[in-house]
Amino acid sequence: MTSPAPSIWLTTLGCAKNQVDSDKITGMLTAAGYTEASSPESADVVMVNTCGFIEPARRESVDTILELSGAKRDDASLVVVGCMAQRYETELAEALPEADAVLGLDRYSELVDRLDALRRWTPLTIGSARRSHMDILYETRRPTPMTPYAYVKVAEGCDKLCTFCAIPQFRGKQRSRGPENIRDEIAELAAAGVGEIGLVAQDLAAYGRDTDAPDIVELVRRVSDVEGLRRLRLYYLYPREIRPALIEEMAGNPIVANYFDLSLQHASSRLLRAMKRPGSGEQHRELVERIRSSAPDAAMRSSFIVGFPGETDDDVDELASFLDDARLDWAGFFPFSPEEGTEAAIMENQIPDSEKQARLRHLQGIQDDITTTCSVGQIGRTFTVVVDQVEDGRPVARSYREAPEIDGVIILDRGEPGEWLTVEITGGYGTDLDAIVTGSA
Ligand code: SF4
Repeated sequence: MTSPAPSIWLTTLGCAKNQVDSDKITGMLTAAGYTEASSPESADVVMVNTCGFIEPARRESVDTILELSGAKRDDASLVVVGCMAQRYETELAEALPEADAVLGLDRYSELVDRLDALRRWTPLTIGSARRSHMDILYETRRPTPMTPYAYVKVAEGCDKLCTFCAIPQFRGKQRSRGPENIRDEIAELAAAGVGEIGLVAQDLAAYGRDTDAPDIVELVRRVSDVEGLRRLRLYYLYPREIRPALIEEMAGNPIVANYFDLSLQHASSRLLRAMKRPGSGEQHRELVERIRSSAPDAAMRSSFIVGFPGETDDDVDELASFLDDARLDWAGFFPFSPEEGTEAAIMENQIPDSEKQARLRHLQGIQDDITTTCSVGQIGRTFTVVVDQVEDGRPVARSYREAPEIDGVIILDRGEPGEWLTVEITGGYGTDLDAIVTGSA
């Protein structure tokens, strides 16, 4: 008699890029015959896709592993995958005896076989997921999209040398996917009802640099006429890679969201140099101006590191004055985290944590006021939105101005998940807006 197919539960931590990997791992396992469990308690295999980017993310990963280890059935298997597993595979396996397997990114080709062995399960058919060499980038993702938006990873790894970042150490050099393969994945998602696609990579605007693939502008052109695709959003744009042609394409292509996710990190040129990142506050201002002159309605987001080694009060003032001038719609601030193996971790003049937190609160306060002013400025405007979900009876939607999961949302008077609607903004509070539906889009 054949045993029933084991069920899997996968908890994902970290960024959108990790979510893509999780969708692909789920796709790979379902292609191999596994089923999706409805809860960790009922699953035969409980998996955690970890984030190893910075220390707080790693702590959250370990806490989640321990929590799920307590929640799962005694006879269920616990498997740890993802960035943290890649970076600390041996240490994690030793430190977490609760885990039955720890598999880094390089070893996803072994995943199906390892799970089969753990569950002592012999599948009836040998599916395509049982190939010996797999690159997760090319895997087919989970069969049922969970949201009306999804991320598509167009490249893995990074060729830059930012002194605070350990990603190139464990994700390797940039490897871009072919444009046709990316287009096929977007077409599949769009056919399944996913109208908004976010293109992600560690350094998205450098797409194609490592191969004969076209550049990011050409890629955007090649995928924007996919049937059913309503909105394409570009994430993680390294400032020097944002060439005039890319700004023009983003401003002029109606499918591309007028949303610029700028990876600025700081405004002090001295600190940017120490980070081995190009530019200065002045050049950042020019970039913002260039974007606004091509796309006056552009929404902009950026992230900043606070408390980088050697950061002085003057540097913080410089960043604050940049925020005041740039008036970005959204911004995230992260305390500098000394990552093992990076240059910045061993730099002199490390800033105490309490000081980092104080500076972060100061800068966040400045930005919160700017974000609120930007949001309130939308009252009376009309937008095309997509409804992501209905929460407590209230439809939660987003326009091109709001990226999923990180920015504010628009609360509607009616609407169903997946619907595209035109709305008029009637009110605003903090980061979120209220709107009434005026028609379908
Ligand atoms: S560009 Fe991004 S991923 Fe690449 S090294 Fe710099 S911070 Fe890390």
